[in-house]
Amino acid sequence: MELVAGANTIIPTSRISIEIQIFGIDSSELDFSAYSLATNAKVCSDDDMIFYGQLHNKSQTIKLTQTSSSVCFQINLPEVSPQINKISICATLANEQQDFSSVNYLNIKIKNSNIIATSKITGQNRSEVALIIGEFYRYQQSWKFRLISQGFNGGLKSLAEHFGVNIADEQPHTEVSPPPIPSQATSDTTSNISNTLKDIFLSPLKLIEKHKRQKEFQSKLSQYLSDGKLTNLERQQLDEFCIEHELDKQQLFKQSSLLINNFLHFTLANIIADRFVGKDEQDLINCLCDYFKPDQSIISEIKTTIQRVNNIAKIKKGDVNPIQTNEIVVKNSELIYLHQKDVLLTVQRKNANNVERYRGDLFVTSERIIYKSDKPKNILISNIISYESNKNMIFITSKTANNSGEFYIGKDVDFVEAHIEQSVKRFHRQIDLRQSTNNTRHITQETRNTVWQRCNGKCVECESTSYLEFDHIIPFSKGGSNSENNIQLLCRACNLSKSDRI
Ligand SMILES: [Zn+2]
Repeated sequence: MELVAGANTIIPTSRISIEIQIFGIDSSELDFSAYSLATNAKVCSDDDMIFYGQLHNKSQTIKLTQTSSSVCFQINLPEVSPQINKISICATLANEQQDFSSVNYLNIKIKNSNIIATSKITGQNRSEVALIIGEFYRYQQSWKFRLISQGFNGGLKSLAEHFGVNIADEQPHTEVSPPPIPSQATSDTTSNISNTLKDIFLSPLKLIEKHKRQKEFQSKLSQYLSDGKLTNLERQQLDEFCIEHELDKQQLFKQSSLLINNFLHFTLANIIADRFVGKDEQDLINCLCDYFKPDQSIISEIKTTIQRVNNIAKIKKGDVNPIQTNEIVVKNSELIYLHQKDVLLTVQRKNANNVERYRGDLFVTSERIIYKSDKPKNILISNIISYESNKNMIFITSKTANNSGEFYIGKDVDFVEAHIEQSVKRFHRQIDLRQSTNNTRHITQETRNTVWQRCNGKCVECESTSYLEFDHIIPFSKGGSNSENNIQLLCRACNLSKSDRI
């Protein structure tokens, strides 16, 4: 049944949950709280309030879970103390400069195993900072829920006080400050510590204060990361803020994991964009992982990605060993560097419309690219003018028209390209230990920032947020540029499967 403001409905005395979906604003910008009230409409003790950061109330009859777009209070009605007459569910804006008009609407669902009631509260024309959503209350031998949907002037603190939560117990501690007497310093310190402990566990004011600091920390972090960098100074400031306000840094990082993971993925995509990871870049990502301690999956993604890029860079520098195989016949001096079994070859001759496809084995040797299949192909390394890998294809321009403008698809073209590159360089005696200066595909930092923003840090094909790479939409060798409208974000998997598109 759909409830309108003021309407009520019978609620079975069972375990029930009230699920609130939030639209138009992130759930971290709203604080949801529940108050267990006696017949005088006040809490019996401060433990009767539960809000953000608390998993449950003291008697464990109310539990609170929160995602980025919803919150859920689970209430065990049969176990609620007989003293409690009413449970009020409320929401307040974390930023008290805002009002509820910034919330698009809240979708409310009350359910046990079935949906008992639903409702929608819009934020339209609301000028208050707090909202009393509704209340569960005893009615004869049973429970009812009434949708209140009423604004309340004042933030979380005022709301808590309205329900009788004793916020004032903090006053003596802050106001009465006797002049410091050196000889009593030790005992003062001890009593301060016990006060602090007491405050953290008991005082709702302290909890609200702490909550405010946590939000402050998160907005600081978000602001620092917004430029795609985290400086030493910024890190130091975050650390000091946590120490000063006794905040658990790692806990806060966990709560901001979406933001942090996005930042780490951006950093990773950046450092592999030039297909070479320098020591500075490696140090940077190590340092960030050390600092944020992200999930194991991200750490292994970073490791695998960097290893792959470094392997490719190593091959390009000529740091490879020839392999032994009897699958092809080679000349005496010819060395085989790569063998990929059962790969697809796509051939499109220059100025031809049709695309031919074959399956077979690909070899790269010191003298040739060999494709062994029903229709064998050979390209002499000495004839290669240019080559480029893009989206699981290699575009090769060769001196002879017959071998020009063809695409070769291997299992991982970046590796194939690296082997071709090292053979070409070896042929021209250009192999040395210097890093490749081939920067034709260099994407500027500014372009990368813009593209990352435009794609929301997600693969444009599948919306994955992992294994992201900056990708040329039109390959460089086909006239594509390094400008932002020719660059997009693709994940590795989509990059590998895009071979038929161009
Ligand atoms: Zn993808």
